[in-house]
Amino acid sequence: MVSQAMTMRPDDADARRAVAPVICYPTETLPQPDLALYRRARARAVKVEEVRVPPREAACFHAPAGSFFRISSVEGPQVGDLNLFHAENLSERFYSGKTRALHGTHLTTGDRMWSAFPWLRPMATIVEDTLAWYGIDAFGGSVHDVIGTRCDPYTNALLSGGQYHHCCHSNLTRAVAAHTGLALEGAEPLVHDVLNVFMCTGFTRDTGQYFMKASPVRPGDYLEFFAEIDLVGALSACPGGDCSTEHSSDSARCYPLLVEVFTPPADALESWSAPAPNGYDRSHGT
Ligand SMILES: [Zn+2]
Repeated sequence: MVSQAMTMRPDDADARRAVAPVICYPTETLPQPDLALYRRARARAVKVEEVRVPPREAACFHAPAGSFFRISSVEGPQVGDLNLFHAENLSERFYSGKTRALHGTHLTTGDRMWSAFPWLRPMATIVEDTLAWYGIDAFGGSVHDVIGTRCDPYTNALLSGGQYHHCCHSNLTRAVAAHTGLALEGAEPLVHDVLNVFMCTGFTRDTGQYFMKASPVRPGDYLEFFAEIDLVGALSACPGGDCSTEHSSDSARCYPLLVEVFTPPADALESWSAPAPNGYDRSHGT
């Protein structure tokens, strides 16, 4: 938490603060997705799967490489916590921190969800975001963040002392266990920091604390992705509902989320190929 208490202010404090920031990771050299090609392919795609995620639960879905998956708000405003895995190797998982470093705190159309080391390649590309109009509000809040982690029973026990079993972390653990056949002890370490779909978040300007506010999502809104590699997704309908008040309890009003998978014909993606794992040789200077 940001505090200025108990520190000596140097004479040149204002000058030091006035130094202009530099973008840590300029993205001009990042390979860019061919969104026009994706849109043409999407226009010819047909729906092949539908999964409805019940409130305060999670569910898994399969999105083959070259397919599209859409997460929609249905019935009422609801936030979703999304995990992604390479379907053939569950160790290759979404890397929220590096995605944040590359694309910023909140994702929208054209941004990508990157996988962990040593793969570090695009897993999915956002092709449509009906909440893109929201931008950044007066509080510094925006939607679809990669700054939160996922609500979890450990932090809840730390802060409230209670035992709550429908945090996104537990929901995702149960869903991954059911999908893979692993025991809970094997599935839990696979669950990772999420993309907070539809959640509206930011950091307070005065203390730098993570905040949430009522999601602007309404039924009919959606976030749609192109699967760059063969994916298993796990989506939790957060117990926080629209995250306007609290999470990690049964007090918020919650709604289901809808996941739909669409597959284009093979010839629609002839100029596209799935991204290869990262090019670093992994010798680490030895
Ligand atoms: Zn949650």
